[in-house]
Amino acid sequence: RISKEKNEDGSNLTVAVRIRPLTEKDQAVIGGASNIIKVRDKELIIHSNSLGTDHIFQYDHIFWSCDNSSPIYASQEDVFTTIGKPLLNSAFQGYNACLFAYGQTGSGKSFSMMGQHLADCVDIDSDNYSGIIPRFCKDLFDRIAKLKRDSHVTVEVSYFEIYNEKIHDLLASSANKLPLKVREHPMWGPYVVDLTVKPVQTYSQLRDYLLIGNKNRAIAATTMNEKSSRSHSIFSVELCMSEGLRKEDNRRSKVSLVDLAGSERLGNSYSTDEKMREGVFINKALLTLGKVISALAADQKRNQFVPYRESVLTWLLKESLGGNSLTSMLATISPASTHLEETLSTLRYACQAR
Ligand code: ADP
Repeated sequence: RISKEKNEDGSNLTVAVRIRPLTEKDQAVIGGASNIIKVRDKELIIHSNSLGTDHIFQYDHIFWSCDNSSPIYASQEDVFTTIGKPLLNSAFQGYNACLFAYGQTGSGKSFSMMGQHLADCVDIDSDNYSGIIPRFCKDLFDRIAKLKRDSHVTVEVSYFEIYNEKIHDLLASSANKLPLKVREHPMWGPYVVDLTVKPVQTYSQLRDYLLIGNKNRAIAATTMNEKSSRSHSIFSVELCMSEGLRKEDNRRSKVSLVDLAGSERLGNSYSTDEKMREGVFINKALLTLGKVISALAADQKRNQFVPYRESVLTWLLKESLGGNSLTSMLATISPASTHLEETLSTLRYACQAR
C-alpha cells in the first residue's frame, strides 16, 4: 500500500481551530463585543481582563478567519486544502476518514462544512464561500477523471441527521420520514437500516442530493424550534475502487463529514421537558465523542476500552474512527468577549481530544 496520510506527529488525529469574524450581532450587544483572541504561530491566545492571565492553547492548525486583510487569513479554500484534502487522499488509498465540526451555535460550523448559506453554497465554481463538503465532492470527481484507464471508481452518498438519538434520513422520499434503526453487521460493522444511499456519477448529480438534504435539514429546523443546532448531520461518501479485473485489488472506503450539534450548555433551568431531553442527548453524544477520540489517541500506546456504543453517533462511526482511519476535528469559535465561557469550553474540548 501507498504510504498513508498522517499528522506530523505520526498520529491519525488532527485537531484544528477556526476563529470566525465578529458579526453584526456581536457588535450589537451593549457596548459592543471586543475580540479576545490572538494567534501566534501554532498558538492561540485568549486575552481577557476577566481571566487575569492570558490562556494559551496549541493545536495542529489554527485558522484565523477574522479579517481577510490579515496576512494569516484562512479562506474556505485554505481550510479545505489543509484538513479536507488529506481525507480525500486517504480515501483513495482505501482508508476510512471522518471530520467533525464542533462548537457553539453561531461559531461557524455550517459555514465551514457547507458554506455561507445551506441553500446556495454548492456552486463552488462561482462561490468563494462554499465549504469543505462541496469542495471535497468537487475534488473527488476531478480526481476520478484523472485516474488511469483501467481504474474504476463508484461513488455513493448518504445524508442523515441524528436528533435525540434518533436517525432521520435527509434523502428519503417524503413517504419515508420515520426514524431509522441501527444494526451491527458481523463483518461490516454498524449501519443504518433502510437508509437512502444514492449512486452518483458526476459532481452535478451529487450537488443535487446535497441541495435536497440541505433543504430537508432547513425544513426540519424551522418546524422543530431550531432543530438544526440541536442535531448532528452526517454526510457520507463511499468509494469503491477497482484496478484491472482482480477482485482482491478492490478497495472500499468511506468518508463521513459531520456537522455536530451546538456544544453550548442549555443552562440550569430547562424551559421544557423536551429541551431537557435534547440537552441530555446532545451532551451525551458530544461527551462520548470526546471520550472515544481521546481513548483512540491513547490506544496508540496501550489497549483501552473505547465506548463507541454509548451514543448513536459514535456507534455508527465506529468503522471510521480508530484503526487505520484518519480523524479530524475542526473546533469553531467566536472571537467575541461575550462568548468567553463557551469559547474556553470548546478550546478545552479540542485540547482533550489531542
Ligand atoms: P453554526 O453552524 O456553528 O451555528 P454558522 O456557520 O451558521 O454557525 O455561522 C454563524 C454566522 O457567522 C453565519 O452568518 C456565518 O455566515 C458567519 N460565519 C461563520 N464563520 C465565518 C467565517 N469563517 N467567515 C465569515 N463568516 C462566517
